[in-house]
Amino acid sequence: MVTVVPKVVVVVLAGLVTCQLALLLTTLYLHRTLSHRAVTMRPGLAFASRAVLWVSTGIRPREWAAVHRRHHAYTDVLGDPHSPVLEGYWKVQLYNIGLYKKAAHDAETLRKYSRDIKVDKWDKVLFDHGFVGLGLGYCIFWALFGWRWALVAAGVHVVSYLLLNAAINAIGHRFGKKAYPGVATNNQWLAFLTWGEGLHSNHHAAPTAAKFSFTASQFDHGWLVIKFFKKLGWLQVRHEAVHLTAAAQEGLGPLQQEREPELV
Ligand SMILES: [Zn+2]
Ligand SMILES: [Zn+2]
Repeated sequence: MVTVVPKVVVVVLAGLVTCQLALLLTTLYLHRTLSHRAVTMRPGLAFASRAVLWVSTGIRPREWAAVHRRHHAYTDVLGDPHSPVLEGYWKVQLYNIGLYKKAAHDAETLRKYSRDIKVDKWDKVLFDHGFVGLGLGYCIFWALFGWRWALVAAGVHVVSYLLLNAAINAIGHRFGKKAYPGVATNNQWLAFLTWGEGLHSNHHAAPTAAKFSFTASQFDHGWLVIKFFKKLGWLQVRHEAVHLTAAAQEGLGPLQQEREPELV
């Protein structure tokens, strides 16, 4: 007997899968590769990441990296572009995109934090035109499902992507376990939904680590993808060991004993 899956299920799933793909490339390319240089991608993989992010998010990579680096430079103090300590949890959770855009359009932020990321011909022709990318992404849904259902798929993708990205900034600096000094927290459930990004206390303690899980009980499936791509020769990892920041090392104390000796 052939079971027919209702179209609404297929369309919602397409939206969720697209969201997860965009989140995966956000953490692998925008975050771990571009912002922190924890990973170096081969040009082909970097270009594919840029192209998929263009049609699924419309984000300009150098703007994302600049805003994120400013967040690390001013974490939860004046100057942080999206701190729930300064702005309140709900503002960051529901209005993260507005806070992001304000910082991304600040020329000083770009000049200071992304001067190493050069604008190339592909940016000029394609990737700097975010709405063109998003329009193309919508056309892919349209070709697959028709224009009405494409709106549903795009809506599911956009809302879930925005809320989950916002949750990394909002929940990741408000709720959960602190493994290190500072406000950032670890939330394994959020890490499951965001390819490891929910292990945010770990990340702030060791921003150049390509792997966000530090103990056997933590799971970072973004790292599994990195290991797989590394095996294929598509990328390199800057260092396998976890180099904690001075602030994180100073505050280890009793927390250190809870951590597994095997950090890689
Ligand atoms: Zn953070
Ligand atoms: Zn970071």
